[in-house]
Amino acid sequence: MARKTLIAGNWKMHLNHLEAIACVQKLAFALPEKYYDKVDVAVFPSFTSIRSVQTLIEGDKLLMVHGAQDLSQHDSGPYTGDVSGPMLAKLGCRFVIVGHSERREIHHEDDVIVNAKVRAAFRNGIAPVLCVGEGLEVREAGRHVEHTTAQLSAALQKVTPEQAQSLVVAYEPVWAIGTGRVATPADAQEVCAALRATIAGKYGDELAGGVRVLYGGSVKAKNIGEIVAERDVDGALVGGASLDADEFAQICAIAA
Ligand code: PEP
Repeated sequence: MARKTLIAGNWKMHLNHLEAIACVQKLAFALPEKYYDKVDVAVFPSFTSIRSVQTLIEGDKLLMVHGAQDLSQHDSGPYTGDVSGPMLAKLGCRFVIVGHSERREIHHEDDVIVNAKVRAAFRNGIAPVLCVGEGLEVREAGRHVEHTTAQLSAALQKVTPEQAQSLVVAYEPVWAIGTGRVATPADAQEVCAALRATIAGKYGDELAGGVRVLYGGSVKAKNIGEIVAERDVDGALVGGASLDADEFAQICAIAA
């Protein structure tokens, strides 16, 4: 099944709401509309910038979409500081990043929490961009496929086939995130293909053939071309380089 390339920009804890507006405006100017036929473009601002970004995208009828970087596994309740799926859905979020390695490491989010968050996203009609990836030790021990497919299987517990249709998976080797050390295209293909096979094992080939599997980790304009040329890599989750609207636009254009 044909899968439309997706380029997702994870702004992490950068850009206040005024800077976020400026970044979206620059990106809209730098990426001509014709590219959106071939590539979906999504930006992931901080919670505090989502409303401003939503207003700009919807008001100016921009072709990019926006998402959030995390969500609570609960839909409401006494969870001070958390942000729920219903709140994000109300803000027009189409996607939400779940299980990013920074949240797994810094906030100790384990596979059980990641699974609960994936289900919260689906329950609220938001497509999770589920991040999986191995650390350096696991890679050097040659256990990266086993590790990432186990993370994926755990995250998909109790997820129905109807929900899984809108799943996005991002293979993000931890050793490549923010380090400038990018996986080789063959490394990315090996894991992305294994992740797709895992989805096929649970939901069948047809469904798996429609799920977008992204690569993330030090993606730049200079390396995106060879990465998305791989058969099972359907786009990229871009961190640092997405903060520069011109470079991010170039990444989107090359991937299109
Ligand atoms: C990320 O944070 O998801 C990421 C891939 O970061 P970077 O592109 O900066 O490595």
